[in-house]
Amino acid sequence: MPTEIQTQLALLRRYFESGVTRPYAFRKEQLMKLKAAVVAHEEEIYAALYKDLKKSKEECWVTENGFFLAELNHVAANLRRWMEPEAVPTNLLNLPSSSRLVREPLGVTLVIGPWNYPFQLLFTPLLGAIAAGNCVVVKPSEFAPATSLVMQKIIESAFEKNYVLFVPGDGSVVIPEMMDHFRFDHVFYTGSTAVGRIIYKMAAEKLVPVTLELGGKSPCVVESDANINIAAKRIVMTKFSNAGQMCVAPDYVLVHASKKEALLAALTEKILKFFGDKPEDSEHYGKLINQKQFDRVVQYLSAGRILYGGRHDASRLFIEPTLLVDVPPGAAVMKEEIFGPVLPVIGYETNEEALAIINQNPNPLAFYVFTGDVDKEHYWLGAVPSGGACVNNASWHLTNPSLPFGGRGFSGTGAYHGKHSFDAFCHTKAVMKTPTWFDPFIKYPPLKGRLRLF
Ligand code: NAD
Repeated sequence: MPTEIQTQLALLRRYFESGVTRPYAFRKEQLMKLKAAVVAHEEEIYAALYKDLKKSKEECWVTENGFFLAELNHVAANLRRWMEPEAVPTNLLNLPSSSRLVREPLGVTLVIGPWNYPFQLLFTPLLGAIAAGNCVVVKPSEFAPATSLVMQKIIESAFEKNYVLFVPGDGSVVIPEMMDHFRFDHVFYTGSTAVGRIIYKMAAEKLVPVTLELGGKSPCVVESDANINIAAKRIVMTKFSNAGQMCVAPDYVLVHASKKEALLAALTEKILKFFGDKPEDSEHYGKLINQKQFDRVVQYLSAGRILYGGRHDASRLFIEPTLLVDVPPGAAVMKEEIFGPVLPVIGYETNEEALAIINQNPNPLAFYVFTGDVDKEHYWLGAVPSGGACVNNASWHLTNPSLPFGGRGFSGTGAYHGKHSFDAFCHTKAVMKTPTWFDPFIKYPPLKGRLRLF
């Protein structure tokens, strides 16, 4: 006897196989419906994200619904062109054939989201899946419950359940329940590396392709020639946004010893300037998502000497933006993803010394280097294999839809945003077309004596 969810998944399969989701007009219409529903629920989105994470409206706009709408507009404006078959050259051996790439929808896809940007990280892959002509199951994180409820309302007001199905609940229960009994055509997962492994294994059982957007420790190097004022501003803005619960936050800073004191002073000044001396009361400073995350991050406060910050209040899930110094490279805070408002700042004398620390956690999701010197920039970008990178900036690479966003090795596989989202949810079919007016006998057996091997 199939369970309710299995019956629903079979309906998605049938809907996809009917071919309804393939035409451009259908896809465009669904994108516009999604946009209208998101706009109509704007105030509810803000209220929910405030409840779950104490995000200000401005932060929501930049990192959640505004980010999503910018992506949607970009995809909608370019979709027709992306759907066109792409002509590619044909080699001499095959002339006068012609060759093209045809991007086809994958089928019934599963998008799994985390809690830190609960709206954006579920809806941005969803829009890629829709644009590519797929049916979609969306699974939000259970740890951002207010946002999950609004997202459910939005999706159920815009789409039929046999096209986009919203499945809330405990991921460790509902995801195996779906993946054990149904073969998705693609799984797009954003979340921790530990759960990413579980998803990858489940997908491997059925040879389901995956995109894995995972976590990790993104290092930030501040070189001896860096503009310290700018570096401090940009590091503080990104690191303490969403109370440090950002996959691409600079996890720790490695600063050339000659600039360590100057950088620490500038970081302190910027924290005070951006969030005030009572950030718990600031409109622009978030909270930890729940007690479990609060307890985990509080432990890191004792991993070194607190140069600035360190105050915390469990009743408000508040941890002050904190600068840690004198942190031993072997400490847990230097091995685990911090994912909270605690920033270790470590001085280095030689590049090798800094690289030895970075290489404790290879393949970060992002890498940041602050320098005005092109040779140093090239050196660092070449020395640290990461998913993405910024020079004299932190995290903003992900806001350019022309750049693929994704990890590498331990920080993930695959990428999305803009055209890359469309591609992530398509199969690129290789097609060769051969005319019949030209059919030389030398191409047919027996071939003996006709081939010249080089
Ligand atoms: P998580 O792995 O705990 O949860 C992510 C999703 O997996 C949730 O929907 C959850 O329900 C589901 N899940 C949990 N346990 C499961 C199980 N046993 N089987 C199947 N599904 C399960 O991640 P999180 O704590 O929500 O997010 C934080 C992590 O995500 C951090 O490591 C962060 O770096 C990473 N992250 C990465 C990106 C990126 O774009 N690369 C973005 C945001 C967050």
